[in-house]
Amino acid sequence: MQTDLKEFYKEAGICEAVYKFGKKVETELKDRFNRFDEIAEYNQLKVLRAMQENKVSVECMQGTTGYGYDDIGRDTLEKVYASAFHGEAALVRPQITCGTHALALALMSNLRPGDELLSPVGKPYDTLEEVIGIRPSKGSLAEYGITYKQVDLLPDFSFDYEGIKKALNPRTKLVTIQRSKGYAMRPTFSVEQIGQLCSFIKGLRPDVLIMVDNCYGEFVETIEPLDVGADFMVGSLIKNPGGGLAPIGGYIVGKKECVENAAYRLTSPGLGAEVGASLGVMRSFYQGFFFAPTVVSSAIKGAVFAANIYERLGYKVIPDSKEERYDIIQAVELREAEALIAFCEGIQAAAPVDSYVSPEPWDMPGYDDQVIMAAGAFVSGASIELSADGPLRAPYSAYFQGGLTWYHAKLGILMSLQKLLDKGFVTEKQLEALL
Ligand SMILES: *Cc1c(COP(=O)(O)O)cnc(C)c1O
Repeated sequence: MQTDLKEFYKEAGICEAVYKFGKKVETELKDRFNRFDEIAEYNQLKVLRAMQENKVSVECMQGTTGYGYDDIGRDTLEKVYASAFHGEAALVRPQITCGTHALALALMSNLRPGDELLSPVGKPYDTLEEVIGIRPSKGSLAEYGITYKQVDLLPDFSFDYEGIKKALNPRTKLVTIQRSKGYAMRPTFSVEQIGQLCSFIKGLRPDVLIMVDNCYGEFVETIEPLDVGADFMVGSLIKNPGGGLAPIGGYIVGKKECVENAAYRLTSPGLGAEVGASLGVMRSFYQGFFFAPTVVSSAIKGAVFAANIYERLGYKVIPDSKEERYDIIQAVELREAEALIAFCEGIQAAAPVDSYVSPEPWDMPGYDDQVIMAAGAFVSGASIELSADGPLRAPYSAYFQGGLTWYHAKLGILMSLQKLLDKGFVTEKQLEALL
């Protein structure tokens, strides 16, 4: 039987004008996609080598229960993470519930009362405001007498080296650098830029610890923050390094002492990393890490494809269609509430799970404006899977990320465009003029 791709897309509700426009954009991105494939190939070999060097065996796939003493799967996985990311040690656990938890754990275990935390890259990710105590919160670092200083980026988003030099003081114990922009309006830093910042800080104060919030950044480049001078880095397994298969978890990797501190805080003084049963998740942790480089490259292809589609249609996209990529997030300013809703409906309609539901704006706790979210994920809330969200306020930006396969990301974006067309925000004429 002859398979006709165009016909298949048509049956999925994608009209010919959208299909042809998508095809043209994809064709023009071939060279860029090839480069993403090369990065994935390098990272795939890096992960494979780490698994082989640490003798991952069939026993490692089994889980333990109870205390989890001598859990070979857990202990070997931590060696694999340490090898792949070039750290001395790693803590990779299902007991770390999310990215915020991993970051809170890393901070709380490596800071003591009287110490100061410095962010030299402006305001950290929203959820960290409560961890630090920028917004007063139960159990925050502030409650334990750990103070916080922040140096904002300069207007051109470069590092304020003078300001950082002034902010460093004898109490500064730890510097936190967030790699991805998250939902802030600044560019994501390249690993090289992070390296420059690390050199500057270590040049002044070789004794301070540098932590990188690596969320959304893993495997986007061939190097990671530990390669350029960071002491430890932290991330979530339902983002990049879980490869879409890890059902929960977080990691901390880097200097042995920093990782040990985190282990003693996660479990208990005296117990540290020696306890913590891996239950039944080891296979998904290993397999997810194995898949992560190609999953991340699929997500980046989706992000770049979306940027190129929407920029040509006159929407502001961040990063723009040509920029280098340092994380997997793409923002599209849709300018009108109804357009943002239509975009999210398209992403939802393309999902493998819950494709038949329609996302609705809702009053999410902690947000002033209503928020709309589209996700039809195998793992609840996993943002390495194709997902989009945005607050219903000007400029009505959709934040879009993930895609376990490039083909799924592509369908999601074409579907979002189809919904905008159906609702009259984009016309067939406009698409045809761009062919
Ligand atoms: C997602 C994210 C976090 C928090 O992770 P959660 O799993 O949502 O708690 C922290 N920092 C950055 C940059 C992130 O992208």
